[in-house]
Amino acid sequence: MSDNDKQPLAASASAPQVAESADAALQHIVDGFLHFHHDVFPQQEELFKKLATAQSPRAMFITCADSRIVPELITQSSPGDLFVTRNVGNVVPPYGQMNGGVSTAIEYAVLALGVQHIIVCGHSDCGAMRAVLNPQSLEKMPTVKAWLRHAEVAKTMVHDNCDCANEGESMQVLTEENVIAQLQHLRTHPSVASRMANGQLFIHGWIYNIETSEIRAYDADQSAFRPLGGEGPIPSATPKARF
Ligand SMILES: [Zn+2]
Repeated sequence: MSDNDKQPLAASASAPQVAESADAALQHIVDGFLHFHHDVFPQQEELFKKLATAQSPRAMFITCADSRIVPELITQSSPGDLFVTRNVGNVVPPYGQMNGGVSTAIEYAVLALGVQHIIVCGHSDCGAMRAVLNPQSLEKMPTVKAWLRHAEVAKTMVHDNCDCANEGESMQVLTEENVIAQLQHLRTHPSVASRMANGQLFIHGWIYNIETSEIRAYDADQSAFRPLGGEGPIPSATPKARF
């Protein structure tokens, strides 16, 4: 069995050489909680008191379940700031196909919480994207395989349109096309479509680079990804409002 067969969704570069024991892994997590409970929480007690009965997040953040992506860390957000939903491949199923967790979270974020922004954030070295390129690695994972059908359109885009020189380039273009595809799926949700059309909701497609910490954002006006923090206004994937 190759490494790829064992851990097709794991990061080849960052996988630990020797896994810690189950007990040690759990102890590490509990120790972290105790540090938070005793040392960190008391310093932010006012914030947590305010959050105890209400939330008013700045944005919904849809990203990959990959352990290396920490939305609050990379945006320096506090508890209460981001309404986060995560899954393998930062997928947004089109409306009506699957009334699952992502669709439910979108509807709740838009209608109940009134978020003004939805960010779909892909990332470099994504195991899900690698699996889309190499579907044979998913033979023993029928659920993952079925889920990643929502990324199939991105694969076809790359296959038909990219003269990619190597797997690295294919991965980069696929990751971009997947974010664009998920933004299109996002727009099929009635709550999203309606609030975008009247200028109350803005959508964004980002790609986070694990190695450099840079983020590139999709600019719908230019049909291209541009660096966040670069020249000009913040890139947005939102079409012009109609109402
Ligand atoms: Zn990923």
